[in-house]
Amino acid sequence: MFTPSEISEIQKLLVPENKIVIITHYNPDGDAIGSSLGLKHFLNQKGLEADVIVPNDFPKFLKWMPDAKKIIIADYKRKVAGEAIYNADIIFILDFNASHRSGNLVGPWIEKARAKKILIDHHQQPEDFDFVFSDVKVPATSQMIYHFIDALNDAELVNQDIAECLYTGIMTDTGGFRFRSTSATTHRIVANLIEKGADPAMITSNTWDTNTVSRLHLLALILGRIEVVKDGKVAILWLKRDELKEFGFQKGDTEGFVNYGLSIMGTQVSAFFMEDLYEDFIKISFRSKEDVDVNQFSRKYFNGGGHINAAGGKYMKSIEETIEDFKVKIADENF
Ligand code: 5GP
Ligand code: MN
Repeated sequence: MFTPSEISEIQKLLVPENKIVIITHYNPDGDAIGSSLGLKHFLNQKGLEADVIVPNDFPKFLKWMPDAKKIIIADYKRKVAGEAIYNADIIFILDFNASHRSGNLVGPWIEKARAKKILIDHHQQPEDFDFVFSDVKVPATSQMIYHFIDALNDAELVNQDIAECLYTGIMTDTGGFRFRSTSATTHRIVANLIEKGADPAMITSNTWDTNTVSRLHLLALILGRIEVVKDGKVAILWLKRDELKEFGFQKGDTEGFVNYGLSIMGTQVSAFFMEDLYEDFIKISFRSKEDVDVNQFSRKYFNGGGHINAAGGKYMKSIEETIEDFKVKIADENF
């Protein structure tokens, strides 16, 4: 948490004269959108305005969230987003650890902005900003927003909108309250959010009962050819651009596919390789169990990073070469 003196400095900044912008990472997920909108609704409760800016579009299954439609998508609204960041007095940096994670457009804007920058995030190795609240042990940035509200002594301001957004962020980043860093504290906060009006059945249904036929067909395709190597310890899944096109791929359609690899008994790592729809690179998702550190692995070999048990990366070769290189790299690892 921020120190008490940082909290009082931040309190002083949170006044109507200051323009507030909230920014998330590229390809925003449930936690990025949940924490940003949750914070925005909280600032509204305090009588403050704030713009939520995301670098690019986010999945349809998150668009039910209160005020999701008001989010400024920088890819579509360059001028509005650029000016808001340029004119901001305060920028909240949520759910990412380094400016470049918000992409080639927004990243440099953040670096140049004259605003006071406040980072709240749970990824490893955060860059330095004016205020940093970084904790890799917390399962979701949305949970950290609750801690932040609490530290401001404002827990009584939490209303249904805030509760729904934070609940969604925590639910998605913990894989439905299952992943390792899910703690008793997480559940206590979630209990508070339910009391404030977050409806677990509604949120789960809006967020997760949203399969399209194309997504299920893509899933069937990759499950049908899942490969397990290294004595059953590593699962490999992949998708090619032509297949994405054939099934009418839409943003978010492949979310969570990588987790199927980990559901196989005995696997420790799951890797999902996907050709980018437009550019010549392979987007990789890694997931792992227990102490197997895919963050380090991805940093070392695949130009990426993330968390110990969930990381991503990028690779510039063909998908076949990427998977071959991956097999060589894992041979040297002790998992
Ligand atoms: P995903 O597989 O869902 O894209 O990403 C898993 C986690 O790794 C997320 O927390 C995400 O922020 C992080 N991540 C994904 N891609 C990258 C990357 O290229 N670089 C870094 N540093 N982290 C990434
Ligand atoms: Mn997160």
